[in-house]
Amino acid sequence: MSTETITRFAPSPTGHLHIGGARTALLCWAYAKGKGGRFLLRIEDTDQQRSSEASTRGILEDLAWLGIDWDEGPALEFGGKTLGGDPRGVGPFFQAQRLEIYNEYIRRLIEQGKAYPAFETPEELEAKRKEAIEAKVGYKYDRAALSIPQDERIARIDAGEDHVVRLLMPDEAITVHDQILGDVTVKPEEFDDFIIRKRDGFPTYHLAVTVDDALMGVTCVVRGQEHLINTPRHIAIQRALGFPTPEYGHLPLIFNQDGSKMSKRDKDKAAKKAVRDGKMEHSPISEIGHEDFAGWLKDKTRQLPADRLKELAGVLAIELPEIEVEDFRAAGYLPSAINNYLALLGWNPKTKNADGTDLEHFDIKYLAEHFDFRGVGSGPSKFDRVKLLSFNADAIAALSDDGFAHEWHAWATRHDAALAERFSLDDMKMLAPAVKTRCKTLRDGRKVVGFALLADDAVEFDGKAVHKAIIKGEGKGLELLEAFGKELGSLEAFDPDSIEEFVNAFAERHGVGMGKVAQPVRVAVTGVAVSPPLGQTLAILGRDSVVERIARCVEFAAGQSA
Ligand code: GLU
Repeated sequence: MSTETITRFAPSPTGHLHIGGARTALLCWAYAKGKGGRFLLRIEDTDQQRSSEASTRGILEDLAWLGIDWDEGPALEFGGKTLGGDPRGVGPFFQAQRLEIYNEYIRRLIEQGKAYPAFETPEELEAKRKEAIEAKVGYKYDRAALSIPQDERIARIDAGEDHVVRLLMPDEAITVHDQILGDVTVKPEEFDDFIIRKRDGFPTYHLAVTVDDALMGVTCVVRGQEHLINTPRHIAIQRALGFPTPEYGHLPLIFNQDGSKMSKRDKDKAAKKAVRDGKMEHSPISEIGHEDFAGWLKDKTRQLPADRLKELAGVLAIELPEIEVEDFRAAGYLPSAINNYLALLGWNPKTKNADGTDLEHFDIKYLAEHFDFRGVGSGPSKFDRVKLLSFNADAIAALSDDGFAHEWHAWATRHDAALAERFSLDDMKMLAPAVKTRCKTLRDGRKVVGFALLADDAVEFDGKAVHKAIIKGEGKGLELLEAFGKELGSLEAFDPDSIEEFVNAFAERHGVGMGKVAQPVRVAVTGVAVSPPLGQTLAILGRDSVVERIARCVEFAAGQSA
């Protein structure tokens, strides 16, 4: 076997990619890349009921979007690149397509007496479990099936009798040499003969993951600490099958600031709270009747399906907390900011900037070059949304105007159909200098240019702004505004520079300062006193719209001053 470092990320496709999963993937990737190795992606879809193709696709795309490229695994075309593939011939990378492989190894274990079938019915097992609980002793499988002779075991399996397969745990302690946590030892009395193949014929996670890691040549398993309790079992399977034990690194868990687990459920919780705060009693969402709605509201454990939850958030006009990569994407975060923040969530580069402060901003190339397990803390990590937002604001500020326009355009195409329809990439390039500086997320851009998304007759004038810019000072503003609307017809090119020039010349002609012209026009076309520079504001609206809006405002202002 080669000594090349091979890590893997092995998501179960039962939903979107959780931000914690993205951190695991990122650090797996970094560890492999830093050692010139390979990063492999495997889809753990043995839970057929909860797995879906849509979820797989979503996870692959989220990873690709983050730039966490996998060398081996399911193929995906993304941004002109082909990710994945099977250059070493170790696939397929979907566990549901590997059942024969698992069965072969399970058969081997059974034949060698290292695993055995157990034929008790679930009811029989349940009765034994109850007995143990009543007797206040910990339940453990009693190995009753071990008394079945070996040839009878095989004959009953071959005859198709319902059974599970259990691993015969050796009577020895197992120590996990964890790169982050140090040695973790589990005593033999804490083990039982756990199941490696379920009654439905599917292998358990423990068996599948261990066989796959070995056959795919994985040299280092990086995963969340929630899996630490599984690792001794995996080592037991490795020993039974004669597989090498890879290196392990279990990453700290991620919590919310209040110490609660950061989970998808948080979105549901936030929606419930908003419904209660708003004293909403009837279901405002489709497909959910009032009774159902009331039942959901009362029951902490019940969650609305993702699309219904989204609908509800829309009705309530609230933002749900971002938990999954997709949420952060939709909220307008940049992959570079997410990666930077996730890398620091549990890992400390232990490097100073020139000014003596801790190094915080770096890209994934830096991460790959410097990541090691020594920098990973063993305690839980707290997810700091304020810090992530400030990282995002910094990442946006660091973009060129052109770069910003591309990011904004790609974001709008996926998440804001109205914006994408209204603005071409060129429009966004024109707006970029003004919008970029006002955004912490790409979604913030909408607020800056919201005026351009309105129909001309939907602009609402802010009375105060109109008064200050147009009515005050004996109607001079109104006069100028009317004149501006009329004279605009003589302006040929309608781009920001020509418009700015025109405004200058107009102000000069009328013997007033620029501001005396710009502000009434701004208020007239946007309804409010703040907008991007006037050239861009007018150019994005187009001449007809500007003329129309000025006329409406003149009418409005005349009504106000009468
Ligand atoms: N499929 C497991 C999960 O999504 C992966 C565990 C592992 O990395 O071994 O949690």
